[in-house]
Amino acid sequence: MIPENPTADSNIEEKCLKFFESSGCIFWDWDSKHDMAYFMTDSGTAESAESSKISCRNGLWWGLMHPADKERVKKALDFCLANKVPFFQASYRIKTGNGGYTRIMTKGVPAYDSDGCMERMTGFHVDVTIQKKYEDKLKRLINYDFLTNLPNRFIFMENMNKVLSDASKNGKRPAVFLLDIDNLESINSDYGYAVGDCVLKLAAKTLKKGIGEKGMISRIAGDEFVILQPDLGGINEAAKFARSLLQLFENPLRVHELKLCVTVCIGIAIYPENGNESETLLKNAGFAMRKAKSYGRHGFHFFERYNEMAQANRIQRDMKKALNREEFFLCYQPIVNAKTGRIVAMEALARWAHPERGIVCPGDFINVAEETNLIVPIGEYILRNACRQMKMWIDRGLDFCISVNVSPKQLQTPDFVGMVKNVLNECGLSPNCLYMEITENAIIRHFSETVKNLILLSKAGIKLALDDFGIGYSSLKYLKELPISMLKIDSAFVRSIDEEIDRAIIDLILALGKKMRYEVVAEGVELREQADFLKTMGCDLMQGFLFSEPLPADDIEKILRKDYIDITLLLNT
Ligand code: C2E
Ligand code: MG
Ligand code: MG
Repeated sequence: MIPENPTADSNIEEKCLKFFESSGCIFWDWDSKHDMAYFMTDSGTAESAESSKISCRNGLWWGLMHPADKERVKKALDFCLANKVPFFQASYRIKTGNGGYTRIMTKGVPAYDSDGCMERMTGFHVDVTIQKKYEDKLKRLINYDFLTNLPNRFIFMENMNKVLSDASKNGKRPAVFLLDIDNLESINSDYGYAVGDCVLKLAAKTLKKGIGEKGMISRIAGDEFVILQPDLGGINEAAKFARSLLQLFENPLRVHELKLCVTVCIGIAIYPENGNESETLLKNAGFAMRKAKSYGRHGFHFFERYNEMAQANRIQRDMKKALNREEFFLCYQPIVNAKTGRIVAMEALARWAHPERGIVCPGDFINVAEETNLIVPIGEYILRNACRQMKMWIDRGLDFCISVNVSPKQLQTPDFVGMVKNVLNECGLSPNCLYMEITENAIIRHFSETVKNLILLSKAGIKLALDDFGIGYSSLKYLKELPISMLKIDSAFVRSIDEEIDRAIIDLILALGKKMRYEVVAEGVELREQADFLKTMGCDLMQGFLFSEPLPADDIEKILRKDYIDITLLLNT
């Protein structure tokens, strides 16, 4: 097999050559004493070596090797010789006849003289270009997000751990930014998932360009990106960087002929004050991001350790006990027809009689209940109690509906509609006595997951109300797909009804309601003047402190038999 071997059988050589060619292997022998290498000729890589006989002294073989691979291969060879391991193995790129590179894997067995010096090495090359391509592809699939081509969460966390360990040694202050697209769900429902995917790709590209050389980015969930800046110095720099991220989305993203406005909310956690470990920092950036969302769209918020996490943890712990101890109760607030003075419905509003903190309002616990999924059992408890109460009122001859707020988390549970039907059966309440209120924002964000249950509820005879309407920045397109009966104009518009722009919005909602045959309720009516305005605009259904604050069932009963003629008669007609 080795040309210089005088005893080599040329027949065997021919057979072997055929075998090597079909197997894609090329055998070689390296005479290290004379520094010459011999190759089997006429095939693939050997051809590229120009000759079957190469002087290694001239460095020809090394000269054909890709410069970036040389050092590594030399290291592997030195390691083999120094440690006398049975064979040398390396994979590298080698120049082919056409000037390109092909990847080969080389394996060689050294032979030593009596002094322990290497005399020669015999081995083979095999072309592994295709295997390498598959390997790379597999690596990409495992380590990268297929849609945006960004490193996935696993790789990101690995790199983040390295950054944190460096920061602890060198006193650096890395910062984690969790960025969530506010309106991907509505883009998906308005234009389809293909457009949503393009938005994600563009957002990834935009962010990658915007974060600079040192920053790292990954997509860790559907519409959530995490960015790590290895050393930002402190809160001011972090705020500046967050503002620069928001600015990246100031121009609409172009997807084919569409121009889509994308807004994002960012939560920030800084090392080490907001956490020493990557998981903690990420979790706390998540807390801060949700806080940013609660303030509206397109903003950022810093994690405030003591206020937010401690409070959320405490609430979560207490809430679990509260359900068993029946600490949740309901207050009721009437929705009044200002034309007739009659109560149309009674909205059930949750309260928590906390043993230490007194009465806690939903604004302070519903969010945590949603994040921890406790809203599912709490929501069922509220629904059951509201339906029971309504049945008692009906039995006493009262004629209105009960309206219960529902969280999107509840609507996403698989047998939500079955549960509602059971509760109605159990309480002996007809489904058409029940309204379910869903906030506009919640529906848009979880449109595809909730729409099926909303349709089933409506088919079961339950009426649906869109709560806090007008502040959801939603497109109206989805409205026609939803079986809605009622729109509740957000109290923000009523509060500033004396401003022209807010009146114009209320006018638009009323016109929409008329066209689509929705009932329209104005929320948060506190003043006579507001009610006057609303009535002249044609909005008859109202809810607010002007008529009654939310009251426990016992107190509300005192005013139940009195209708609202006194107040409503005074209103302008
Ligand atoms: P919402 O459903 O829009 O309820 C109206 C909120 O406005 C209530 O706040 C009510 O007390 C308040 N309100 C009523 N009239 C007036 C007024 O004239 N002026 C002002 N300033 N406020 C008025 P509350 O009870 O604190 O509830 C806040 C929100 O918490 C509710 O907003 C609802 O989204 C949510 N929520 C309440 N109960 C439940 C529940 O049982 N389940 C779920 N998932 N959410 C609930
Ligand atoms: Mg409501
Ligand atoms: Mg509301």
